[in-house]
Amino acid sequence: MDEEDVAEWLYGEASALLDEASDMGVMEKLVDRVSVECRRRALERLVQNAAEHQPLDCPDCKRPMNVHAYRRTRKVNSSFGTVRFVRSYGLCTNCGERVFPADVKLGLQVRAPASPRVQEVCALTTLRAPAGQAQEDVRRLTGIDMDASSLHREARRQGERALALRDADTALTKTLPGVAQLMGRASVPSSPFTLVIEIDAWNIRERDNWGKTKKFRDAAQETGRWHWVYTGTVFRLDQRGTTAAGRPIIAERGFVATRAGLDCFRSQLYAETLQRGLLQAEHVLILADGAIWIWAIADDRFKKATQRVDLYHVQEHLWDLAHELHGQGTDKAKEWVTPFLNWLKRRTNGALDVIQGLEGLRTTLENLTTAQRAALDREIGYFQGHKNRMDYKTGKALGQPVGSGAIESTCSQYQRRFKLTGQFWSLDGDEAFLALATLHRNRRWHQLFPHDST
Ligand SMILES: [Zn+2]
Repeated sequence: MDEEDVAEWLYGEASALLDEASDMGVMEKLVDRVSVECRRRALERLVQNAAEHQPLDCPDCKRPMNVHAYRRTRKVNSSFGTVRFVRSYGLCTNCGERVFPADVKLGLQVRAPASPRVQEVCALTTLRAPAGQAQEDVRRLTGIDMDASSLHREARRQGERALALRDADTALTKTLPGVAQLMGRASVPSSPFTLVIEIDAWNIRERDNWGKTKKFRDAAQETGRWHWVYTGTVFRLDQRGTTAAGRPIIAERGFVATRAGLDCFRSQLYAETLQRGLLQAEHVLILADGAIWIWAIADDRFKKATQRVDLYHVQEHLWDLAHELHGQGTDKAKEWVTPFLNWLKRRTNGALDVIQGLEGLRTTLENLTTAQRAALDREIGYFQGHKNRMDYKTGKALGQPVGSGAIESTCSQYQRRFKLTGQFWSLDGDEAFLALATLHRNRRWHQLFPHDST
């Protein structure tokens, strides 16, 4: 029997089931349905063959194991239905591990029914939508029939695997050989390059402290029912460009997102930047809004980096002050703020001119209210604190970003999925799922699903 015979048989089976009303979609589904049992059986034999040929060696240390049980049956849910096979179980006297080596070789996890393809489908679809919504799409698109809680459980399991990979990378930052290993993964150009790191945070639950966000954020405090997700992105300046339509685009970049606190974020960001060329870069630039915790991380972990506070946040500060002094939305406010905005963008040390201008207002503007005086002092303090992070003129001349738009769009992409999940994910589940989403963004999917790269 050759391929021609198989096609002939398949045609016969499918055409017997057609009726006059059938469109091509019906035909596609019929061909799929009548061939599924063949595919299942073929897969089952392939799996059994692989299990037969798998030596009973320890997957970790590769030494032969003592056999504990021969030919135990395992059931796996595959893309084509349930597959059964038998394999043996051993004990490694070296590691103390009890394991089915064939299961490890096949990419199956302990006490989990999903085949690697099914694992991947569960992981990928729950990245887009909660399992309750994804379930129906999965059935329609793949024929895999899973209830929402199985889908969720499987995706969660893949999240735990992603978390383990992430934590293994982070652990490498603790030793010099580990740092060298991370650095060795960076693919960098031979010419000098600039590495850009952008940092921000968003909260994973509905906030219940409206109006106090900034205060909590500056102190990096958790509060109430919501948690900060610290988020970073890293890319080379030469990887930034624009689409034909003029939209900014970054060809390749790394991501970090965690709700496990600032210490974890700092280590993860360090691990990711090492893998993106931190130690090979000629210049490192860190961009963010004014939050204090960000600059503490920059001072601590990225000492040689140029720090830059997002221009648009700084402009907001000037606009807020303009409205406080001259009234919301007035021409007078606009007239007042324009020279300040220009100094900031166009002058070397423009921030110093802004500070001088603001200090001058204390004496030249008469009849300031208490609130206005307080706003003025607050903004002078803000500019004093960040003046060394405001060299926009040089930044523009070097073709560097002056705003942290890349991280802001990253955060909103994460939020589109994670703001939905409220009750569905436990706190631990959130972190596992963040790790999964981040692994996917970092284009390391093949580390969990090697079949993806073949
Ligand atoms: Zn072993």
